[in-house]
Amino acid sequence: CFCSPKVCIVGSGPAGFYTAQHLIKVWTAYWTVFCSRKRCISSASLSSENVDIIFFPQCRDLCFFSQARQDVEVDIYERLPVPFGLVRFGVAPDHPEVKNVINTFTQTAKHSRCSFYGNVNVGKNVSITELQQAYHAVVLSYGAEGNRSMGVPGEDLAGVYSAKDFVGWYNGLPSCRELSPDLSCETAVILGQGNVALDVARILLSPIDILKKTDITQPALEALAESQVRRVLIVGRRGPIQIACTIKELREMVNLPDTRPDMVAADFDAVKEALKDLPRPRKRLTELMLKTALEVPGEKEQERRSKASRTWGFRFFRSPVEVLAEPSHSRIAGIRLAINKLEGSGEGAHAVLTGEVEDVSCGLVVSSIGYKSLPIDPSVPFDSRKAIIPNTMGRVKQAAGLYCSGWLKTGPTGVIATTMNNSFDTARSLVEDMDSGTLDVSAAKPGSQSISALLEKRGVKPVTFSDWEKIDNVEMKKGESSGKPREKLLTVEEMLHVAWT
Ligand code: FAD
Repeated sequence: CFCSPKVCIVGSGPAGFYTAQHLIKVWTAYWTVFCSRKRCISSASLSSENVDIIFFPQCRDLCFFSQARQDVEVDIYERLPVPFGLVRFGVAPDHPEVKNVINTFTQTAKHSRCSFYGNVNVGKNVSITELQQAYHAVVLSYGAEGNRSMGVPGEDLAGVYSAKDFVGWYNGLPSCRELSPDLSCETAVILGQGNVALDVARILLSPIDILKKTDITQPALEALAESQVRRVLIVGRRGPIQIACTIKELREMVNLPDTRPDMVAADFDAVKEALKDLPRPRKRLTELMLKTALEVPGEKEQERRSKASRTWGFRFFRSPVEVLAEPSHSRIAGIRLAINKLEGSGEGAHAVLTGEVEDVSCGLVVSSIGYKSLPIDPSVPFDSRKAIIPNTMGRVKQAAGLYCSGWLKTGPTGVIATTMNNSFDTARSLVEDMDSGTLDVSAAKPGSQSISALLEKRGVKPVTFSDWEKIDNVEMKKGESSGKPREKLLTVEEMLHVAWT
């Protein structure tokens, strides 16, 4: 319909889909709050699905209000031919339960007021200004596809990878297909102690029998089957109390078959006393670390550890200074780490150099010190220092009609649930602006009609959601034959071929 409010979303990761979901069904929340306050219906009995068909005569003003808005149309533009962003290309293959959010995203994509346009690189195939001309509002949700560099000599040597590329390689991100990391060394060092670092450590050390039942790519599976990596050190600037991973990921490491922990007991010297003052989640995490590092395990666990062929351990109070090269300078031989001490206490303590250094021999370094968003269009304000789009509750500062959500809005931290909440907030801001008239939706806008025409002129053919479902089917069938949930297609060409035939 030409006259309905039209919103376009850039990026089809969790932020894009949760923003779309909330825009399409946003009235659920309002009805729930309003109706429960007026006591005409309990909030629990309202589901987002039935909102479209429920009518409450008791709250006529609200119904009138909602009927005027029930026609928001949402188009999602995605650079790749496949949707779901880091749920497909980031979340570890041995975490299939996390990927269940795809079911909700699929429901949203199939909603009559939502359309998916894959294979459209915004900023390249179409500009933000063109999108703003075609839509009443544009929501930028294109994530954080860059990575923070270590800024130390030697980081470009062969054998040094960013976690972003390493994860992209085992998860089938087309741009990382050629990575082929060299896993012929015994020791790998991972820089960073967040969940992504632990994902990488776990994938490097997992028994192949576990991995082969996941959707890890076949080339990664084959490389890991041949891997010589037996020892993984997970290095962090600060101490055990400041570690950035969550307990689930730590527990998985502790219980990983055929591995044993290898910690430095002295790193935990001051930790026991600090335990009582820690907030509960941090306390539980620290207790598990202490138990793993210091306690003599029971007989069964001792036996398990003694038989393990691989080890992993945290190395605290260390920062990278230089990646050391082999004499030929062709690849890495090790890493020089500065030894730090902590100033301050608790989670806010910061690392200060002591002036001492330590060299660790290793053949593989994975730098997992963070992702970062990049600007995609010069017309959009961008805070290069924080690597986010400057915004207030998702409203891009000094850019009417422009919104942002997800990692691009907050920076690259938090799990999918955090992204969901901040995307709902953005959708709420957008709807508030429509209601208040701050965002003018009275004039008709052409939406996808004009963008499709532009794209056609530029030789860009979008992939629809049903095209994606063809890719999805082919991948699942390919996986079935080898006992995997899916075998991902690894190139954009293959994806497009399947989508369009
Ligand atoms: P993304 O998921 O990155 O989505 C951005 C989308 O925008 C992508 O599809 C991208 O292709 C698209 N895009 C980029 N540029 C353009 C453009 N120019 N035009 C059009 N589209 C574009 N959270 C959990 O809860 N559990 C986990 O187990 C978990 N594991 C993780 C593992 C890793 C390695 C990482 C990095 C994160 C993990 N997370 C996990 C966090 C979770 O993935 C993020 O919270 C979430 O994906 C952020 O969503 P987003 O939509 O902002 O970004």
